[in-house]
Amino acid sequence: MGIEVNFEGKIALVTGASSGLGARFAKVLAQAGAQVVLAARRTDRLKELRAEIEAEGGAAHMVQLDVTDYASIKSAIAHAETEAGPIDILINNAGVSNLKRLLDVTPDDYAYVMDTNLRGAFFVAQESAKRMVARAKGDPKKQHRIVNIASVAGMRVISQLGTYCTSKAGVIQMTKAMALEWGKYGINVNAICPGYISTEINQGFFETDDGKKLISSLPRNRVGQPEDLDGLLLLLAGEDARFINGAIVTADDGMSVY
Ligand code: NAD
Repeated sequence: MGIEVNFEGKIALVTGASSGLGARFAKVLAQAGAQVVLAARRTDRLKELRAEIEAEGGAAHMVQLDVTDYASIKSAIAHAETEAGPIDILINNAGVSNLKRLLDVTPDDYAYVMDTNLRGAFFVAQESAKRMVARAKGDPKKQHRIVNIASVAGMRVISQLGTYCTSKAGVIQMTKAMALEWGKYGINVNAICPGYISTEINQGFFETDDGKKLISSLPRNRVGQPEDLDGLLLLLAGEDARFINGAIVTADDGMSVY
């Protein structure tokens, strides 16, 4: 058996680590032995998470990052590498949504979703990959991983989430394009498409009548918890993903089969 979950010596940057899936991904990677760099706008939240990870014996750093701001992306990644060392793994997770009918979407609403979910994710990956490619040129055996957090909403349209769906469809194509261009440098780029997972992004909604109706329409009448993605994240972030590149993997409890 060659499968081992050991991220000792790896450095993983997680964007949007201040809550929800990002916080969970950071914890899981730290538990597996990686040094994690927590990146988000809310540094008070990151400090709490860093303390939790350290209390469990893990290693964590933090950097302030606003993915909608190109200068912030460049300085956060530079800061992360100065603090922690070269980033081996990027978990490109920061994202927002906006519940509106298309006819009501304003230019500001559109920019909010697209600048975070698509433009932001693109430039975070590009800035990380520039450094990864430079390292790979010096050491062709060097392995890097990028895991983009897309959504089932990138593959099927969900009512009143039109801009969100559009942004996540972009993340899926972006993942494949990056896999194609960067694979030759040992950078494997894959995407996770979660179904409904209970986090701040949808907090409260599942308690509403619409939310309950939605849950009853799901194949197993349930939503997931952040820990339901642990195994897939560790697979795609780890050495065992060596032959997995450009994959778009759903983790949605069967939601997208119909
Ligand atoms: P969340 O709201 O708890 O987390 C989103 C994180 O992104 C937060 O930490 C937030 O601060 C951060 N963020 C937002 N804008 C940012 C910016 N400009 N710069 C830096 N950080 C920023 O929600 P979540 O459910 O944990 O979402 C994480 C990712 O998973 C998102 O990309 C989301 O679209 C995706 N996703 C979530 C679900 C779900 O059901 N929860 C399903 C599919 C995909």
